[in-house]
Amino acid sequence: MLGLITFVVVFIAVSLRVSNKKKQLLDEKLNAPFADTWREMLKNKVVFYNNLSDEDKALFEKRVQRFIATKNIEGIDTQIDDDIRLMVASSAVIPTFAFPKYNYPKVRTVLIYPNSFDEDFQTTRFEGHKEVILGMVGNRFMNGSVILSKPDLIKAFDGQPHRENVGVHEFVHLLDKEDGVIDGVPEMLMDNHFAGPWLHEIKKEMDKIKKGNSDINPYALTSNAEFLAVVSEYFFDNPEKFKKRHAELYGFLSTIFNREHKGLHEAVIKPLLAPLARS
Ligand SMILES: [Zn+2]
Repeated sequence: MLGLITFVVVFIAVSLRVSNKKKQLLDEKLNAPFADTWREMLKNKVVFYNNLSDEDKALFEKRVQRFIATKNIEGIDTQIDDDIRLMVASSAVIPTFAFPKYNYPKVRTVLIYPNSFDEDFQTTRFEGHKEVILGMVGNRFMNGSVILSKPDLIKAFDGQPHRENVGVHEFVHLLDKEDGVIDGVPEMLMDNHFAGPWLHEIKKEMDKIKKGNSDINPYALTSNAEFLAVVSEYFFDNPEKFKKRHAELYGFLSTIFNREHKGLHEAVIKPLLAPLARS
């Protein structure tokens, strides 16, 4: 009996020590000054970051640092460096920038694949075999994971504004998934009165895409969920052009992602997603 008690006491003491050490290491990572090389990379490659004020740039850096310190970013059959880690973290922070406390609590791992892949996660190229998936939010046994194709991530962050960004696309799906279902209606970010008009707007724009009257990637027609992810890529990557061509849709996305910092849906939003305060 005494032996068992001693074992339990020692086990608890060791566990506490390990978890304290872990916490200490995390604190060190979170409080370390943001590396100049990292800042340089953001400046050269991340258009969204460059368009921020100095104050917001500092906030963006903190968020990126937190994401990198708390998530496991892993290369599968491919090397990854700090540039890739920064691209992943930027993809995560961009759509949630107006919600500074949010750090994807359900995401543990981001897997970087050497190329686009198929539904069986194969990247090998052979005749008749299509690798069309650039990114994916894990489900079932892959819950808590995101997969991104490395070359497509690099293409998205080349310092130029685009309409496509695989990283932003997947993290918008994750945000959409916060209410339990990826359906193009991120309920955490909107109140009940907003969902109806939003679904109506989706239908309206889908009709335009079908008729060839829109420059939005037709992949948006796949489903409401893909519509939200696809238009968000364009919205965050090239906001000026998007606003000019899709003023109404721009208004909807500004409200969903709280880009105007109005705190419109403060009442329904969970503390995790508390909006960025702006005077
Ligand atoms: Zn998608």
